[in-house]
Amino acid sequence: MSEERRKIVYSALKPTGDLQLGNYIGALRNMVAMQEEFDCIYTVADMHSLTVDTVPAELRRRSYDFMAIFLAIGLDPERSVLFVQSHVPAHAELTWVLNCNTMMGEASRMTQFKDKSKKAGKAGINVGLFDYPVLMASDILLYNADLVPIGKDQQQHLELARTIAERFNNRYSPTFTVPEGYYGNKRTSKIYSLTDPTAKMGKTDSNAGGVIFLLDKPEDIMRKFARAVTDSGSEVKASADKPGITNLLNIWSVMTGKTVAEGEKEFAGASYESFKRAVGEATVEHLRPIREKYARYISDKGELERIMKSGAEKAAYLARRTLSKVYRKVGFVQL
Ligand code: AMP
Repeated sequence: MSEERRKIVYSALKPTGDLQLGNYIGALRNMVAMQEEFDCIYTVADMHSLTVDTVPAELRRRSYDFMAIFLAIGLDPERSVLFVQSHVPAHAELTWVLNCNTMMGEASRMTQFKDKSKKAGKAGINVGLFDYPVLMASDILLYNADLVPIGKDQQQHLELARTIAERFNNRYSPTFTVPEGYYGNKRTSKIYSLTDPTAKMGKTDSNAGGVIFLLDKPEDIMRKFARAVTDSGSEVKASADKPGITNLLNIWSVMTGKTVAEGEKEFAGASYESFKRAVGEATVEHLRPIREKYARYISDKGELERIMKSGAEKAAYLARRTLSKVYRKVGFVQL
């Protein structure tokens, strides 16, 4: 038997906006797969949602929804730690200590903050938006995560988490695991909007026609694919000058488990219209069991809360261990 411990993976999704197909293809399905190889800690990051304007009732609904979807896609509360961030106070507590180990200059260099604050203007941004990379560092460091699956947009934040961990380890003594980015499945394609194949499909996209939400009804999914933008020519082929068709082929490939090349063969000579119908049908079929399981979980709030509670207890136990070490090292009196 191998003595080596399994690596710890930390990943979180912010319950702002409803989950969409891009989240599923780019993040969620990999979270399911990673359970085979790693000890996974998966969070509904509701505290991060407050960095932007949030309607309380919507945040609450989405926190339930996200947990129900986590379970519906196959995240297993027996194998992985699944919890809602605000249920584990150590996240906020460690953030304070890490704030005091983060330099203003470092936090001010975060390009995501600079971009978002420029867009919103000074009046529209809160201190939380500035500080959220430090909360993110706390999320990761509390569990001594080895690996954090991230896209390009989070690379700078992970780098900051590493800097903070190293600084703390040097200043006090080795405490935190210095996390690494996990880029795992390279086939994970970015999914683009159905109405604008040059823009990423996004859960807060203002053009809902371009976004397939995981809980969309089958008829809505079919309608959105029927209206999806295609390209000039008539061939179903993935190429740089066919961003619309390429995007649809990528979606079809993930939804059917077949390759893009197989898709090109299967739809050789088919019209764009019938191809789009096939992509719609494949998506409806792929999402059907997820929708059905989601419906069962969401109809039993009591059971969902029991799962949230049990996950929060496991997370709190792990987080508390790290936090007590940190408190002792910085010089807080331990009672
Ligand atoms: P967001 O919804 O932007 O907060 O993203 C949450 C996670 O889903 C991140 O890991 C993203 O990389 C992934 N994701 C979101 N949208 C897409 C997309 N259109 N294509 C691929 N991955 C996506």
